[in-house]
Amino acid sequence: MQTKTERNKPTWLLAFCCSRVKVKRSFRIIMAFCRLRSLFSPSKCNSSSFPFYQSFKPRRTFSSSHHLPSHLQNVGFIGLGNMGSRMATNLIKAGFSVTVHDLEVCVIYPVGNLETLMFWISSLIWEVATRKTPCEVSEASDVVVTMLPSSAHVNDVYTGPNGLLHGGKLLRPWLFIDSSTIDPQTSRNISATISNYILKEKKGDLEKPFMLDAPVSGGVIAAEAGTLTFMVGGSEEVFAAAKPLFFSMGKGAIYCGGAGNGSAAKICNNLALAVSMLGVSEALALGQSLGVAASTLSKIFNCSSARCWSSDSYNPVPGVMEGVPSSRDYNGGFASKLMAKDLNLAAESAKQTGCKHPLTSQAQKIYTELCNEGHEGKDFSCVFRHYYTGMDEHVDQ
Ligand code: NAD
Repeated sequence: MQTKTERNKPTWLLAFCCSRVKVKRSFRIIMAFCRLRSLFSPSKCNSSSFPFYQSFKPRRTFSSSHHLPSHLQNVGFIGLGNMGSRMATNLIKAGFSVTVHDLEVCVIYPVGNLETLMFWISSLIWEVATRKTPCEVSEASDVVVTMLPSSAHVNDVYTGPNGLLHGGKLLRPWLFIDSSTIDPQTSRNISATISNYILKEKKGDLEKPFMLDAPVSGGVIAAEAGTLTFMVGGSEEVFAAAKPLFFSMGKGAIYCGGAGNGSAAKICNNLALAVSMLGVSEALALGQSLGVAASTLSKIFNCSSARCWSSDSYNPVPGVMEGVPSSRDYNGGFASKLMAKDLNLAAESAKQTGCKHPLTSQAQKIYTELCNEGHEGKDFSCVFRHYYTGMDEHVDQ
């Protein structure tokens, strides 16, 4: 239960925000506050023989943490960008005691982007602890979640100076979860490194810490709504024990096998997505040049063998579908630069394993070109307009 004083805190914070940002931004902040206070959808978890497991259902609102399994109560979160700030907010909503760190903490108060600013305002209200280094987060947490841009950042946060593993062979956290999209080999290396450490205090029968690689499917909207899907690599028993965390930030968690397999699954998923988007875009642009409207072709695809997510849920042609990035000048959604990054990871993994990858190479080339031409921030479906020079359509309903 929140006290009356706690309920009043947002008022002065909102006044503070309104005095500094434009009216439209203030409205978005108010809406975001409303969303932050919105109810949280409960999900179910399966039982497990892992010593820590106990039945758990996420709470529907901000609440005390008495219902949470004790081995998961203190959560560290590192990387509060577009995804991480929303995921950490959902953990707070579910009642976890959250300690956070981000490189940008020093500049965030005066100039941070709106989403991160929102997180920090929320953190003032719900008294989230902030720490200056990953090492300090580690010392305050039973579990640490990382959500960082790339493999280099993840290596830095885990093994760099003042990183999570800094300061000897004894660690407080029994579990590290990395949700960044990175290459499987980096996930495996860090997991192996962590297995050489021992716990400061035994947790149940456990003497050593564990790591799960758990990248996510679903973008910023799913992160905010708590509807992400996690692809998880590592010990299956640890995966079962960590489910309360996954189901506080997402609607699904799929076990993929040993260390690194979550990262592997994620880059395979995004490779298939990139190729299907290119295939649909190429076919729709060809159709237009042959005199068949993309809206007509899409109707045909969607009830025949070419049907796929890129055609029926995320159509790349402006005017064919409402509520998708192509309908708003390719803003929002999944940035081309992130798709290029994931294709680089897929190409690198294919080379390492000696797997043929002609479509990966071609997709990688196209997305790199799009980024170099200045479309790196646009949704990856912009390939239809900016690579295939497909035409917008205005469909009369
Ligand atoms: P982002 O760039 O918005 O956020 C990353 C955050 O990490 C930033 O706030 C940055 O300051 C922080 N950071 C970087 N290095 C750090 C360090 N050494 N110590 C502490 N903090 C550090 O990125 P994002 O969009 O939130 O994506 C995060 C990850 O999720 C990426 O791997 C991305 O591929 C993946 N992902 C993103 C989306 C999406 O739609 N944005 C969807 C699925 C997966």
